Amino acid sequence: MTAIVLVVDDLLPNVKLLEAKLTSEYYEVVTARSGAEAIEIANQKPIDIILLDVMMPDMDGFETCRRLKASEKTAHIPVVMVTALSEAEDRVQGLEAGADDFLTKPINDTALFARIKSLARMKIMLDELRLRDKTGIQLDSMSNTISLIARDVSGARILIVDDDLVQTKHIFSKLSTIENSVIDTLADSTKAMDKMLAENYDLVIISTQLNDADGLRLCSHIRSQEKLRNLPLLILVEENDTKALIKGLDLGVNDYLVTPIEGNEVMARVNTQIKRKRYQDALKSTHQQNFNMSITDPLTGLYNRRYFDVHCKSLVDEALTTNKPLLLLITDIDHFKSVNDTYGHVAGDEILKQVSARLSSNIRPTDLVARFGGEEFVMVLPNTDLKEGFTIAERIRMSIEEVPFVISAGDGALKKTTSIGVTKFILGEAIEDMLKRADKGLYQAKESGRNKVVIVE
Ligand code: GH3
Ligand code: MG
Ligand code: MG
Repeated sequence: MTAIVLVVDDLLPNVKLLEAKLTSEYYEVVTARSGAEAIEIANQKPIDIILLDVMMPDMDGFETCRRLKASEKTAHIPVVMVTALSEAEDRVQGLEAGADDFLTKPINDTALFARIKSLARMKIMLDELRLRDKTGIQLDSMSNTISLIARDVSGARILIVDDDLVQTKHIFSKLSTIENSVIDTLADSTKAMDKMLAENYDLVIISTQLNDADGLRLCSHIRSQEKLRNLPLLILVEENDTKALIKGLDLGVNDYLVTPIEGNEVMARVNTQIKRKRYQDALKSTHQQNFNMSITDPLTGLYNRRYFDVHCKSLVDEALTTNKPLLLLITDIDHFKSVNDTYGHVAGDEILKQVSARLSSNIRPTDLVARFGGEEFVMVLPNTDLKEGFTIAERIRMSIEEVPFVISAGDGALKKTTSIGVTKFILGEAIEDMLKRADKGLYQAKESGRNKVVIVE
């Protein structure tokens, strides 16, 4: 996942330092030396995240943030305020100005990358929603939903798993200020799994300093459960416990808070996670709405060619403005005619449905998958380069090959394979040209024996 980060600071050494750190992690960096310049750039370029220094002459960070958040064109860009460690007051003021998160100077690398990654994930969901809105096939306008979510997180449902009662009480009292929120606390972590499965939480906060249990093991358990895989997780880690922090981030927790807990940080982290969850849920519900419309294929529930044509164009336009790579995959089931011929059309239909489900589960919710016709499917993957694309295509190919399909004819199970053509969008070309190139890859995969992935550059 890459993102374009705008670094704003009046002091050149600060700008250079952040630029070097971010570039080394493959983020794209744009810089500004004043609030006014930052606003101008944010209005012109597709910025994903803004790192904003508080102390600047002329317009300070708070005012800059306030102006960014007041303009419809820039309000959706996540802003991270960079404050001095000693100034807790700044954080309150930053939150009031609409900042999404904080970093304190001197900036610690783990904190920097955790914040950026977490906000970049949220931004991806948000961009996808805005894109769907532009595609214009939605029943009601998405922009309404977006601005509602961006404005507040009322009604949030949060679980705190911690046996430190004083700490729990502190977090609880902060989070209780969220309007209509439901905040549950649990000191006994053995009951956590059942509770999470039973309740529909927006966020779970887990301590890594439990007395009788391992909080990180709980996180890993959560991530391995289909139903809880996308549940936002925040861990509480001790100030210098880098080992637990790194392990947690590796396990896929979304962000962390350092103990002793600072109230305003709790609010900032919780806010971001809840918003991302809601953008994600809204995205899912638009998929649901689309299901009943003329843009889906009734057999598989995937989008049809008509939707593909419209949405692919939006994705290409987006790739052009953001200057990010875009990938196209075409896949076709091998020797599919023989299924119909040997086991009948019903068995063929059963396999088409299962293939569709496997395709969907191997890509991200922001990717596009459509049934192109017959036993041919296309996938469009934004923000993905050829190397990642090959890995994904191979994963898809294996997911089809490895597990036999369940059919109601013959002996109930049948092995099938697919061939896949992969290509990437070339600046300036027509969508039709990109399709032709992927098709060429598919043809070559078939010619060279099937059950293969072929990339055409
Ligand atoms: P190849 O490996 O070269 O792709 O061989 P193939 O047999 O898969 O290719 P071909 O294009 O000759 O046959 C595709 C078959 O897919 C023919 C058609 O009857 C079947 N088919 C297309 N749509 C459907 C459908 O909705 N349901 C069923 N059951 N079969 C379908
Ligand atoms: Mg085929
Ligand atoms: Mg075919």
